[in-house]
Amino acid sequence: MRRHEHLYYVADQPEIADAEYDRLERELRELEAQFPELVTPDSPTQRVGERPSESFPTWVHRVPMLSLDNTYNEEELREFEKRIFRQVGERPIDYVAEPKIDGLSMALHYEDGRLVRGVTRGDGVRGDDVTPNVRAIKSVPLTLTGEDVPRRLEVRGEVFLPRAQFDAINREREEREEEPYANPRNVASGTMKSLDAHVVAARGLRIYVYSVAQVEGVTIRSQWEALEKMAGWGLKTHPDSRLCHGLDAVLAYCDEWREKRDTLQYDIDGVVVKVDSFALQQELGATSKFPRWAIAYKYPARQATTVVHDIQVYVGRTGKFTPVAHLEPVPLAGSTVGRATLHNEEEVARKDVRVGDTVLIEKGGDVIPKVVKVVDAKRPEGTVPWAPPSRCPVCGAEAVKPEGEVDRRCPNASCPAQVEQRLRHFARRDTMDIEGLGDVLVHQLVEKGLVRDFADLYHLRERRDDAWPTSRPTTCSCRSRRARRASCAGFSTASASASSASGRRCCSRGTSGASTRSRRRRWRRWSRSTRLVPWWPARCASGSTGRRTSASSRG
Ligand SMILES: [Zn+2]
Repeated sequence: MRRHEHLYYVADQPEIADAEYDRLERELRELEAQFPELVTPDSPTQRVGERPSESFPTWVHRVPMLSLDNTYNEEELREFEKRIFRQVGERPIDYVAEPKIDGLSMALHYEDGRLVRGVTRGDGVRGDDVTPNVRAIKSVPLTLTGEDVPRRLEVRGEVFLPRAQFDAINREREEREEEPYANPRNVASGTMKSLDAHVVAARGLRIYVYSVAQVEGVTIRSQWEALEKMAGWGLKTHPDSRLCHGLDAVLAYCDEWREKRDTLQYDIDGVVVKVDSFALQQELGATSKFPRWAIAYKYPARQATTVVHDIQVYVGRTGKFTPVAHLEPVPLAGSTVGRATLHNEEEVARKDVRVGDTVLIEKGGDVIPKVVKVVDAKRPEGTVPWAPPSRCPVCGAEAVKPEGEVDRRCPNASCPAQVEQRLRHFARRDTMDIEGLGDVLVHQLVEKGLVRDFADLYHLRERRDDAWPTSRPTTCSCRSRRARRASCAGFSTASASASSASGRRCCSRGTSGASTRSRRRRWRRWSRSTRLVPWWPARCASGSTGRRTSASSRG
């Protein structure tokens, strides 16, 4: 069970199904009920134990948990290296770089390979001994594995809450009409203070360990070696840590992760850079606040203030109106932002966003920035509260807002805005997965009136001449045959519209490599996507009942 726990939570490579693991756990629980004298504290069933009486005891860190100095650009990072050179002389230096996760720091103490203590950073000198809660984090091994497990070991890591869990928690809170949490970091830190370890277990916190603070019985010479050793003992280290030869490699790493950070399942706010060699780290030492051998390279803030020029409504796939603030363009987290979503009219009313207001905007894990709040002090005179339009801005149909619903909608199912959004959704990878049918092409097809519903997509071939009259090929892509009029032998024109009779086709249907390949491809695409999509009927064409799985759009 420990092995499977490790494979699932630490290595991310489970070998058995969840149900199989549950079966093992049940079996172990039964055995432990039969032979209670054999239950050990590090048994996988003993993660969630008794709750502490009223508060967590204080623990004094043997090695202080210092925070890191920050840098915000290349120049400052080069200055960090220059300071090192001034102290120990100029020489080639290896660094270890890894993403800086926005969570809370935690010290884990192991004795003879068993987890004995988990302590929060606190003020760096004194932290809270939150061992019962740390045990409930599944990616913290209760027992170290592998070779040469040290007699005593203290490692440090970052506990964090993945975005998906955070969103789920907030959805639940909203359903109970409670105020949602501001960010995953706050939830993680609040959770670790909870006196009930069941809460911790349910929240799905995770950890990445990043340093060895103390070790007895094993010699480690560098940060990179420390990461390898910790991984070898079954601790979860960040899979994207990198040993960088020289500062240029570090800078390249920082640039790489500035782009990649939105693809992660959790928030990072920069990169931690450490001198690799422990001997050199010792030589450099620390100031009263920071170590001199490590630094954080912070990415630009994800919040900015700007002015709202206009608030416009966008019509979605189901006709839903989404108000969007058009902003004075402002640099934010590496790109220029000119728009921010306001979600729905009630949100606009709640935040009281008006045209002319100065607002605080934020870019989270999502690509679309959102308006956090209005800077009241900067509101100009004469602004008026925003009112949603009574008609659809695209087709002009009278908007409807059913009693008790948050959203106003365009009720016209053939509204071009809705058609376009539905087609985009239809073509997407997680629905029909139609290669090459991106947003721009969908827009062109709808604009030219070539496509009004999904079925039209499958007749585009017949209407090719309407769309691109000048680029009509005279040779089929199979290259062997000249294209002929559709009415040539072997073709039924019964289903073709009048305009398509003039279209040319390869007459070697069935034998041409190109047409066979394309038919096969089409079949594969179809068979890959015989699942129901949300706006489809509740029954499959075969007659069986459709089911929605979890919250995904897959049917
Ligand atoms: Zn409309």
